[in-house]
Amino acid sequence: MHLYLHIPFCKQACHYCDFHFSTNTTQKTRMVQAITKEILLQKEYLKNKELSSVYFGGGTPSLLNTAEIEILFKSIQSVFSIHKNAEITLEANPDDITFQRLLDWKAAGINRLSIGIQSFDENQLKFLNRAHNAEESEQCLKDALKAGFEDFSLDLIYAIPSDSNDLWRLSLNKALSFETNHLSAYCLTIEDKTVFGNRLSKQQMRPIDEELASDQFTILLEETTRNGFEQYEISNFARKQHYAKHNSSYWQGEPYLGVGPSAHSYDGQNRQWNISNNSLYLKSIEKELVPFEIETLSEKDRANELIMTGLRTMWGVDTQKINHLIDQEFKARSQQFIHDGLLLKENTILKLTNKGKLQADRIASELFFT
Ligand code: SF4
Repeated sequence: MHLYLHIPFCKQACHYCDFHFSTNTTQKTRMVQAITKEILLQKEYLKNKELSSVYFGGGTPSLLNTAEIEILFKSIQSVFSIHKNAEITLEANPDDITFQRLLDWKAAGINRLSIGIQSFDENQLKFLNRAHNAEESEQCLKDALKAGFEDFSLDLIYAIPSDSNDLWRLSLNKALSFETNHLSAYCLTIEDKTVFGNRLSKQQMRPIDEELASDQFTILLEETTRNGFEQYEISNFARKQHYAKHNSSYWQGEPYLGVGPSAHSYDGQNRQWNISNNSLYLKSIEKELVPFEIETLSEKDRANELIMTGLRTMWGVDTQKINHLIDQEFKARSQQFIHDGLLLKENTILKLTNKGKLQADRIASELFFT
């Protein structure tokens, strides 16, 4: 079973980000208390009480101090047992990372970091409105290695306007030169209700250049392969099978509990999500009520999710799991994608080809059951 904790605070708003967070951190202590309370309120959500992964996400969980992380751990351990090989990840931003803090996190039980590097280029970091600079991008990785973190992942963003293919290759190779076994690389997307979304609507910014995105995705595949990484999910690459256990559980449809404002949970049948508002969340939890909405997934919804997430992974979609729904239309559409070199079929498994990976969302949605 898996547990996600959403820490809804950030130092400043990155211009591309549409996650739930607040830059007002005055309620941080109250929020930590509320999350510990929610863990208790939700203690019956997962039937199996042994956790194989815990993920501190956000927002910016590296804004928590060590005492706050320890309070959260205590609360988790009062309800769950944590498997001895559990993956326990903390998302951390370079500007929050110091050698001492890394040692403290390790001592508190964190055994994996997901570090939001995004870029090693000063101008790009400024353009994205990240709170760190290029020097901190490098220094935190050196420190993580020195502190003995064997498992850490780097996040990078590509297709940033003004980026050139050469600059992207350089950034990528710099990331790969650190002894990391995991890399997540995301194409920049422009979401509504973000600074970039606002600039785009006022025509102060151009949309993402599709050709640049496609070229840089190809470079990403070339460089990661050359460095011994497997692309196990469209945006995720691992060396020596260091696949992220927590995120893989989402892609494989396993149950998980999410606590904190905006956190999602899944019990195998229903999806639920907490309110994305810090004040309302706090008020409700303090009255011992979890403020969530819920949606029961139909058989077709679950099959469509399996197609959407499965196709993005190297394990593909096992058509045996959706056999009862497969009709002539699905067969014809998948055959056409196979014919066009976008999909391939290995026994009962449907997978995307490299060419197909560039159109993953379109292909998945055209295979959906309606
Ligand atoms: S630090 Fe992360 S969660 Fe916070 S605004 Fe930036 S991208 Fe979003």
